Amino acid sequence: MKLLHTIKEVREQISIARSEGKSIGLVPTMGALHEGHLTLVRDAKNECDFVVVSVFVNPTQFGPSEDFNKYPRTLDADAQKCSEAGVDIVFAPAAEEMYPEGFNSWVEVNGPTDVLEGERRPGHFRGVTTVCTKLFNITTADRSYFGQKDYQQLKVIQKMVRDLNMPLEIRPVEIVRESDGLAKSSRNIYLSGSERKAALVLSKSLAKAKSAFDAGERKAQVIKALVEDTIKSEPIADIDYVTVVDPETLLPLDNISKSAVVLLAVRFGTTRLIDNLILG
Ligand code: AMP
Repeated sequence: MKLLHTIKEVREQISIARSEGKSIGLVPTMGALHEGHLTLVRDAKNECDFVVVSVFVNPTQFGPSEDFNKYPRTLDADAQKCSEAGVDIVFAPAAEEMYPEGFNSWVEVNGPTDVLEGERRPGHFRGVTTVCTKLFNITTADRSYFGQKDYQQLKVIQKMVRDLNMPLEIRPVEIVRESDGLAKSSRNIYLSGSERKAALVLSKSLAKAKSAFDAGERKAQVIKALVEDTIKSEPIADIDYVTVVDPETLLPLDNISKSAVVLLAVRFGTTRLIDNLILG
């Protein structure tokens, strides 16, 4: 496995892989790799001949008061995990490599970026879509892997690829959870012991939503209230949003005809966690 820091070096290796007729898989990450990321890597390994994992804490997707500076950076351990997983390249560029002086071009998706995370984190998705476009162009990936953990991000990227005819396939990967139900996240390390315990209420609330849906409940309001009430039973949980939306448009539903997604964002102390569940 090669740990590379420049676009030029990545291009050289990709060009060799292409000359050998290999297909290219890309797993974009911000590092601090855990089993969630490694599941994306395994899918990429299964479906592609040559796998690139990018590790880049992308400054343009963080707001001024967000956790860019304290975001965990563990490149040595990440590279080790990627090497063990059979990754071909870890691409870990410096911010100046991706955004050199004079950089001023952006990729912006409208619609699903206006709500939820996009509404609360202005500029976040513009940073995500721009950096992903750059990574797609640098690697010429045939497939790129995204977790359903970041459901809205997945939908925004799928729309961008469709709208702009980008020549690659976006492969969604199911949420990987801890054995007690908490969705794995690089940000879980911010949680204190008591916050970590309290955060279990998120997966519990989603499990209740699933039970209600499986028992025939189709009113979105009822499912939303069930999730909210469950979360509120945990005194330190501070709800940012809970919503039941159409899986494609991300617009709130009244009645669920076929399927829906329950999306939530909740603060525990200073840590904001997101989670979701697809119904139907
Ligand atoms: P991040 O490093 O947090 O930007 O995540 C990189 C990719 O890994 C994104 O596509 C995430 O959706 C995905 N990912 C993160 N956590 C999980 C998880 N628990 N299960 C599945 N995918 C995940």
